[in-house]
Amino acid sequence: MAKQKRHHYKITGIIQGVGFRPFLYRLAVDCGLSGFALNSGEGVILEVQGDEKDLEDFSRRLPEEIPPLAEITGLEKREIPTVDEIEFKIIESESGSGGGDILIPPDISTCDNCFNDISEPANRRFQYPFTNCTDCGPRYTIIKDLPYDRHATTMSIFKMCPECEKEYKNPADRRFHAEPNACPVCGPELSLKKWNSESGKFTKFTDRSPLVVAIEALEEGNVLGIKGLGGYHLACDAGNPEAVSALRKRKNRPNRPLAVMSADMPTIEKYALPTEEEKNMLLSSRRPIVFIQKRGESRLAENIAPNNSHYGVMLPYTPLHHLLMKGAYSALVMTSANNSGEPIIKENPEAESKLGGIADFILSHNRDILVRCDDSITRWDGEAFTFLRLSRGWAPNPWKIKSPEPDRLSCGAELKNTFTLVKNDFAFTSGHIGDLEDAKTYDAFIENIEHLKSVLHIKPELIAHDLHPDYLSTRYALEQDSIETAGVQHHHAHILSCMAEHKIDEPVLGLALDGTGYGTDGTIWGGELLIAERDRFERLAHLKPIPLPGGDAAAKEPWRMAVSFIKDAYGDEADAIITRLSEESLLNAPADQVSLIMQMLEKKINSPLTSSAGRLFAAVSAILGIRNIATFEGEAEMSLEYFASRSETTEAWKIELNPKEQQLPTGTLIKYVCESILEGEARERTARKFHNTLVEIMTEVTYINHLKTGIKKVMLSGGVFQNMLILNGIRQKLRKRGLEPFSHREVPTNDAGISLGQAYYIRKR
Ligand code: ZN
Ligand code: ZN
Ligand code: FE
Repeated sequence: MAKQKRHHYKITGIIQGVGFRPFLYRLAVDCGLSGFALNSGEGVILEVQGDEKDLEDFSRRLPEEIPPLAEITGLEKREIPTVDEIEFKIIESESGSGGGDILIPPDISTCDNCFNDISEPANRRFQYPFTNCTDCGPRYTIIKDLPYDRHATTMSIFKMCPECEKEYKNPADRRFHAEPNACPVCGPELSLKKWNSESGKFTKFTDRSPLVVAIEALEEGNVLGIKGLGGYHLACDAGNPEAVSALRKRKNRPNRPLAVMSADMPTIEKYALPTEEEKNMLLSSRRPIVFIQKRGESRLAENIAPNNSHYGVMLPYTPLHHLLMKGAYSALVMTSANNSGEPIIKENPEAESKLGGIADFILSHNRDILVRCDDSITRWDGEAFTFLRLSRGWAPNPWKIKSPEPDRLSCGAELKNTFTLVKNDFAFTSGHIGDLEDAKTYDAFIENIEHLKSVLHIKPELIAHDLHPDYLSTRYALEQDSIETAGVQHHHAHILSCMAEHKIDEPVLGLALDGTGYGTDGTIWGGELLIAERDRFERLAHLKPIPLPGGDAAAKEPWRMAVSFIKDAYGDEADAIITRLSEESLLNAPADQVSLIMQMLEKKINSPLTSSAGRLFAAVSAILGIRNIATFEGEAEMSLEYFASRSETTEAWKIELNPKEQQLPTGTLIKYVCESILEGEARERTARKFHNTLVEIMTEVTYINHLKTGIKKVMLSGGVFQNMLILNGIRQKLRKRGLEPFSHREVPTNDAGISLGQAYYIRKR
């Protein structure tokens, strides 16, 4: 026998809950090695012993053959003395250890093997909605603590039956240490309740199979609350306009596009036109909502995504979804169940109290959701996928970050809030929390921070926050006693999030086109060109500040912004222009209120100044009579983009920039818009020319400042870059001028990216 050697490994990364130890077992046995693998709070500890050649074989194959969901971020190997042993073993986890270098796996969609299990009548898991294995199933949403073990999940209350336990203990089985392992005998079960308007309660009403009755109810046009992986959805038949409009009415969502789910790709292709890239994304194990171009003669109800060229589509990602798709419908609406601005509902009693009068039925189950997780949303931007929301399938997203300094927390902004925790080389960004405007969302924000802190054993010594004094995230940061805090300007954070994503650590130009963010001068910014580094920035240029009459009310009522922009552009002639626009049935500004607003503007009452690009889009949307009132955040801006996208013109209005002037001439732009539309140009064409002109202005000002600074790298960030015409227009024009634009691929360009930018900023000084 050749001389034996023994190697000790410490492996870190996404290695728990992804079938990593069974993989090590199979590989070690295959290579003829003895030893053990152990989950510890610091990663997987592995020892292998055997002939030198076999050890080499093992070490070479290890990184090459790791399971699909696993990711190794660190591997330390050293030789240690041999011991007496005959086989390879998987040892029970060490609990309560330090934590740190292990990452929490995200929730992963049902794998093909599990899908086969539930589809096979002879299988003991036939039609069982909670089927999973080490390659798939819930993770982040059920994990209470690390190391990841069943007793540390919300599955701990279910005692495995002998058959499940056999699978769980057999290293050769696909369900070896599949922590949420379950079957119809021992696992969670479905329940169905019907809304009873007389008693004002949801009550049990049938002894038939909840699944069968739920499908019938969907086919009949009912609205169902359905408990999913990271929270409740509201669902109805997406081909039934009455059902969709009932859902819209009850949820008070008149226009917002609704996401849909279909059984498979051929069904999606009946109503939409996915490209190859989009198909791959739809089919990926993370299963996000993907924007897909509508097909001309759609089979879906008109009111799914009005004024929109795309649908938000996803494929089933849990066994329950697969089973629900058996009904006679080509797609189901699947929209988060929550009151506007509140976090997605995750608890059963909460669902029953909040969905009364909204859902006709609730299809629920008894596996608790510990952490909320909304569906992720992505779209192809012409060059890559870009995320509008990064949550289920990714959260808690680990970013490799180059500054292993003390543990820290960054609290994000207000709308689309996320937070980020940093430990060692990693920043972990939470899933979507919501709009931090009310107490419920704020509670969820705190709950999520506490959970992630405790699971990852992170004790922040530094906290970063937005400069806005009234954001609840800022207040939270400032209330943490005896922890050092740092404010980060909103648009600086946007640019930093883009730098963090692209691992850039040198001075850059940053174009932040955004809704609103608090500026260092106390006004509201949002159309900014910055020169930025990690810990400082300067404002080089910005859109001309315009009063926001009524403050936040102006965001919800774009016509107010229109009046303000027109007043700024035309001065004393503003009234005449407003009258003409309303005579042409374009701008719909209530006459009595216009004079009130004019007074507010003249006397500067409740009219904070803003250089926001988002508000400029909203104003133009109102001037063109596209959106007067926004029923959801960003509606006016999105509708304007939709109109513009229907014109192919490449024309732009001529606007000269003065290189010495910091303020960009929005007044001239507004005049062009008003004159163009009053001269009878089509709304689509005017909207497109507005886009083209803004692209020219932004490229020009960036180029002027490139000449002044010599900097070529330009970060593009902020909510306005969700607009594909603006993103692609500016990217192309900058490249033509020899500059290097960077846009977001992984971090959302909207305020969901702010917390990562803040995390990139703070270091111990
Ligand atoms: Zn599976
Ligand atoms: Zn069982
Ligand atoms: Fe922002």
